[in-house]
Amino acid sequence: MKFNATFSKDEDLFYFSQNQIIAGITTINFSDWKSGDEYSLPEEKLMQHLQASSLAVLRSRHNSRIAVLNGNTERRYFSDDALVYVGAERSPDLLLVAMVSDEPAVLLFNASAGLCAIIEGSWENIVVDSVRTVVSLIQTRFKLAPAEISAFIWPGICRDCFKPERDLFNYLKAENRKIDLRANLHRQLLDAKVKDERIQSASLCPAHSRQGADFFFNSEVRSGSADVSNLVFIKFKD
Ligand SMILES: [Zn+2]
Repeated sequence: MKFNATFSKDEDLFYFSQNQIIAGITTINFSDWKSGDEYSLPEEKLMQHLQASSLAVLRSRHNSRIAVLNGNTERRYFSDDALVYVGAERSPDLLLVAMVSDEPAVLLFNASAGLCAIIEGSWENIVVDSVRTVVSLIQTRFKLAPAEISAFIWPGICRDCFKPERDLFNYLKAENRKIDLRANLHRQLLDAKVKDERIQSASLCPAHSRQGADFFFNSEVRSGSADVSNLVFIKFKD
């Protein structure tokens, strides 16, 4: 599927907007954040960036846990690997955010059902098939069939930049000793019965983005920096 995204230089934001959904990625200075289980966001700064009035933030722990908001957003910070929101009436001001480094994220949505979700797409979560678990949960708990779900696979490290351990080749399909996380996530979406024509994939790689280019992602592989993080987000349109 054709992938049309826009870069907003003023907001340092790479995003696209369609089908009643806005989704994108930005890079933020991690030094404003506190690390560990108890942490806080520079919310004002984030709000200026993304202009939303409420948010739920996912910080991956590589433990394959899923947080379900179910219209209840009293918790704002989640140490889990997937965040699922299903509101009886979709909330245009709700923003789901995931902190990612070089790993891709899978964003799911069906605006008419009030569904949006973020799955952290690290190899750990591919091994335990987090995508299938989340799609199955959405189906059983919210009666939304996989064929009705749309998906984006958002920027993540490409197969040339991902340096997996040898034992990973036993779990993930590899070509020429290289593993394509995006392709693995795409296959898991298909295995979970999400329709191919409803899956979009961004070919951007953080490690391949360049200073001075339109958008400069943080990449641990490229810079080794721990001070900056990428934030993937999804929200309903107003
Ligand atoms: Zn790359």
